[in-house]
Amino acid sequence: MAVIGAIDIGGTKIAVGVVDENGRVLGRRECPTDAGRGYRSALARMCSLLREAQQVTRPVDGIGVGSTGPVDPFTGVIGKLDFLPGWEGSPLVDDLAREFGVNAAMENDADAAALGESGWGAGRNKTRLVYVTVGTGIGVGIIIDGQLYRGADGAHPEIGHHVIDATGPLCSCGAHGCWESLATGPAMEQWFSANIPADYPHADGLTAKRICELAREGDAMARRAVEREAQYLGIGIANLVTLLVPDAIVLGGSVMRSSDLFLDTIRDTVRRHCGYVPFEKTTIELASLGPDANLIGAARVWHHRFAHGGAHAA
Ligand SMILES: [Zn+2]
Repeated sequence: MAVIGAIDIGGTKIAVGVVDENGRVLGRRECPTDAGRGYRSALARMCSLLREAQQVTRPVDGIGVGSTGPVDPFTGVIGKLDFLPGWEGSPLVDDLAREFGVNAAMENDADAAALGESGWGAGRNKTRLVYVTVGTGIGVGIIIDGQLYRGADGAHPEIGHHVIDATGPLCSCGAHGCWESLATGPAMEQWFSANIPADYPHADGLTAKRICELAREGDAMARRAVEREAQYLGIGIANLVTLLVPDAIVLGGSVMRSSDLFLDTIRDTVRRHCGYVPFEKTTIELASLGPDANLIGAARVWHHRFAHGGAHAA
């Protein structure tokens, strides 16, 4: 039975684990990303955590990586990314393969999580799956017939930057009103801060999580912010249903921990926007792999690339 070393690289932390063939995490470690200390420092920490983790399991048979931001899935090299300064061009996959003497593969973290849900989670037995993670950004991975959908030259489609409202706020990508600029946690926080009255009593430390709590307590402003968030999530998801009519859209990420506040409006928006496609054939469901979804997805990256039959194996 193959056990796979899994590495999930985020903007704030790196999680490392060993994952078995059923998608169970056998050993898990994590450390801060500390991107400013550079790639070599991060690589050394990843290697030492993976060595520790495999001491309590057994030596890994391969390594899978899910990383935030643009990565080249074919060369295993990290792309240009503002919050991993100096990491661009680093040959992470080759370095890991050499350190551990096994083969390794890397994908963008949304694609990795999509592979995880498709292989071991909510998307099992679904032929056409779209995974959407909503947190500080919106990441989307598309799986068709068990295989990751890639654009030209291996490009990862940036569905978080499809335009929802061309009169909306300016996005880091240069467009106005991208899905990310309207429907992420930070987008909800920014709208809330800009719209609360000067004498609003709960103005300090307003995170998306706190706004959701206030909405549950009945706060009228917080409920407006949640409703606005739900509508923008709904429009983006409705667009995905109209464009692709997948078997399932699986929702994950930190904002979806409050999914009960959003799901009714999301489903209602899909019903109202998707009149020309059989939207009722697309199930909209929550990711099922829990807080380790990205780590489990990273292991699935290895299976998708190397196991016989790709994602249908294991
Ligand atoms: Zn954008």
